[in-house]
Amino acid sequence: MKNQIRQMLEGSTRGALWFDEPLAKHTTFGIGGPAECLVYPADKSDLMQLLRLCEKYNVVTHFIGSGSNVLANSSGVEGLVISLKKTFKSFKITEGLQIITDSGVMLGTMVRQAIKRGISGLESLIGVPGTVGGALIMNAGAYGTEISRNLFEATVLTKQGKEKKLLKDQLKFSYRSSSFNPEEILIAAVFNGEAGDPDQIQTARNLASARRKASQPLQFRSAGSIFKNPVGDTPTGLLIDQAGLKGTRCGDAEISEKHANFIVNHRHATSDDVLTLIRKMKNEIFALNNIHLELEIKLLGFPNSIMKEFGHA
Ligand SMILES: Cc1cc2nc3c(=O)[nH]c(=O)nc-3n(C[C@H](O)[C@H](O)[C@H](O)COP(=O)(O)OP(=O)(O)OC[C@H]3O[C@@H](n4cnc5c(N)ncnc54)[C@H](O)[C@@H]3O)c2cc1C
Repeated sequence: MKNQIRQMLEGSTRGALWFDEPLAKHTTFGIGGPAECLVYPADKSDLMQLLRLCEKYNVVTHFIGSGSNVLANSSGVEGLVISLKKTFKSFKITEGLQIITDSGVMLGTMVRQAIKRGISGLESLIGVPGTVGGALIMNAGAYGTEISRNLFEATVLTKQGKEKKLLKDQLKFSYRSSSFNPEEILIAAVFNGEAGDPDQIQTARNLASARRKASQPLQFRSAGSIFKNPVGDTPTGLLIDQAGLKGTRCGDAEISEKHANFIVNHRHATSDDVLTLIRKMKNEIFALNNIHLELEIKLLGFPNSIMKEFGHA
């Protein structure tokens, strides 16, 4: 990034901005080299201004929430990485049980507040890390519930910094996938809450928490499930377990002994270590089961050849 552009970015925001900021500090995997520039825009007008500047000067932009479903390139990431997790935090639940939230609010906060107000339908998402924005982009889900179920409307900003409201029926959601334009940043959402039975809500919440603790290697750094589950009865974790891959290591990255669809970072794993394990898992599952595993995690800042290899282009 040219010095002139660095200065313009710095001069155009009231938010917090860093140059050459290690993304390992901003992802749950703890992996990722320096982002040329990382910013927490101060507010909507600040973000609009930054987007317009990037559009005008051809600066590549990347969006992250809390980086809990992301593998960032250890060699560094070109362009401007934008996260709303610290500044887009407005949240309220109306008398009519509508949840009106900015996308930087943590999903856990929204779920806990919904439970407190007796709203049902979100409680199984307790324990899914990340922001509301990241959850909607990924259509995060757990134990039979998906975040998109109660969505009413979402607000995005286009590359040109223009605000656009999208009603739920203008969007498509499927398993861990949504039709949001990847060039647009999600800034806010409205969900229609429905009153439920407090005892049932609490029971479902406790069950989800217990299942998560029993099945996931939560004491280690990871990005959650690496692959989506394939169509069919056998979950990816079981296929990888049956292939005997649990405990396989590359550097400090390891296919978790507790949940075979998780790769954990023992401390100094690099994105190359993780990609090596991913290739091994994909190849072995294809050889044994004739199934093409599809990545659930998102790759950030890799060359086109790698993005293409993993179906991200
Ligand atoms: C221990 C662990 C357990 C997990 N369990 C689950 C689970 O049970 N179910 C599940 O579904 N997921 C799970 N995940 C994955 C992850 O928590 C979810 O995908 C989460 O919703 C991602 O939110 P985030 O804010 O961290 O998004 P990020 O990981 O930062 O980003 C995810 C994607 O969304 C995009 N994005 C993020 N914010 C915005 C925005 N404001 N505008 C536009 N694009 C944006 C990014 O570009 C990226 O493509 C787990 C992860 C971990 C580490």
